[in-house]
Amino acid sequence: MKALDTQVIIVGGGLAGLCCAIELQKNRISFNILEADDQIGGRVQTDVVDGFLLDRGFQVLLSAYPECRRMLNYEALKLRRFYPGALVWFQGEFHRITDPWRQPFSALKTVFSPIGTLNDKIRISRLRRKSISGTLDSLFEHPETSTLLAIKEMGFSDSMIDRFFKPFFGGVFLDRSLETSSRMLEFTFRMFSTGDTVIPEQGMGQIPKQLASHIPSDVIQTQTVVRSVKPHAVELSCGEVLKADAVVVATEGHRSAELIDDFPKVSSVPVTCLYFAAKKSPVSEPVLILNGESRGIINNLCVPSAVSPAYATGNSALISVTVLGNPDLDNGVLEELVRENLSEWFGADVRHWFYLRTYRIQHALPQVHPPALTPPQRPVKSETGLYVCGDHRDMPSIHGAMVSGRRTAEAVIKDLS
Ligand SMILES: Cc1cc2nc3c(=O)[nH]c(=O)nc-3n(C[C@H](O)[C@H](O)[C@H](O)COP(=O)(O)OP(=O)(O)OC[C@H]3O[C@@H](n4cnc5c(N)ncnc54)[C@H](O)[C@@H]3O)c2cc1C
Repeated sequence: MKALDTQVIIVGGGLAGLCCAIELQKNRISFNILEADDQIGGRVQTDVVDGFLLDRGFQVLLSAYPECRRMLNYEALKLRRFYPGALVWFQGEFHRITDPWRQPFSALKTVFSPIGTLNDKIRISRLRRKSISGTLDSLFEHPETSTLLAIKEMGFSDSMIDRFFKPFFGGVFLDRSLETSSRMLEFTFRMFSTGDTVIPEQGMGQIPKQLASHIPSDVIQTQTVVRSVKPHAVELSCGEVLKADAVVVATEGHRSAELIDDFPKVSSVPVTCLYFAAKKSPVSEPVLILNGESRGIINNLCVPSAVSPAYATGNSALISVTVLGNPDLDNGVLEELVRENLSEWFGADVRHWFYLRTYRIQHALPQVHPPALTPPQRPVKSETGLYVCGDHRDMPSIHGAMVSGRRTAEAVIKDLS
């Protein structure tokens, strides 16, 4: 058995693994990160394709995430903001929802839109008040149910649920059925209400890159697959066994369950994202577009280059289309269905959009049906010498992954000292 000259081996270089490493480094504990992929970042990566920046699945940073505020230099990321609202496709036209989580009464148009009733606007402001009052910890003392049940109990109309909550929070949770925990609803509502929805100028992949810049590059080994783990040791796919004082498994939840004996099963939700390039942007503003109808394959769409022009080349536009789940269709058929849906929204021009790439992410988010978030955090210590972090230990999000990394490092530091 070979001893790596390090105190801690971290398996996985996503946000959780990187934040764990940073915390260990602050406490002068040596570590090595073993990452299976050819680069760090895990689920938050940006590919450059024909000069376009393609995030691996549409995702955004909520600037209010407390852990991101702690760990990231927002200025250096050059964050670009989305319009605080959305355009909802319903009955042949787009309807604007203006800032529903911050100023529900800011636009008279919103009040009379077919998306929701005046009562819905009042309920939105109640939900907002409930979500932002008290501390984050006190939010997690509210009873947990499904999002759908919670919004029905709050009295939202069916039209508001079908035309706003299902496409909007369905897109956030990757679950249009809204079976996701009401704690995610309140947590994300708080984040939307108290900050901006942003992307870094040069793509979401800048987030893990910035985190990795705090640690020496020679302690990160990419293209290194760990086959099995036990306390104080890991076995690589090549058969080599490495020893350390502690092993931290920072992989996706389902992988942690494969690697660690008796680890509870983690179910995950898939998502599919298609990218197109167009000569002309279908929208002139940095706005999220939602499918408010129960038909059509698209859930949501945006034009990242309208938020940050660096996402596209020259005067062209980059379009990101989100389809929930992982449809059992080959990419060509899926593209055709998406184009059909898009043509209805944007007309014949869509035929000329250039297809760039499809991402199918089978394990995009851990599934958190109630009572999954009671308590809101799950243990990070498996046994002495073996620890686990990742978004499946916390709120499934960028924030949760980063918090879990820090929590795990704290557990390791406590045991090693
Ligand atoms: C399409 C999509 C949209 C999303 N939208 C949002 C959003 O808008 N806002 C938000 O807050 N969150 C969003 N998320 C969630 C967020 O990206 C994740 O919660 C977070 O990135 C998880 O980080 P992690 O470190 O826990 O796991 P990961 O990023 O999955 O990192 C795990 C790492 O472990 C590595 N690994 C796995 N097995 C092994 C092995 N055997 N050996 C070595 N290495 C291994 C993997 O390669 C990976 O790099 C989205 C996720 C996706 C996929």
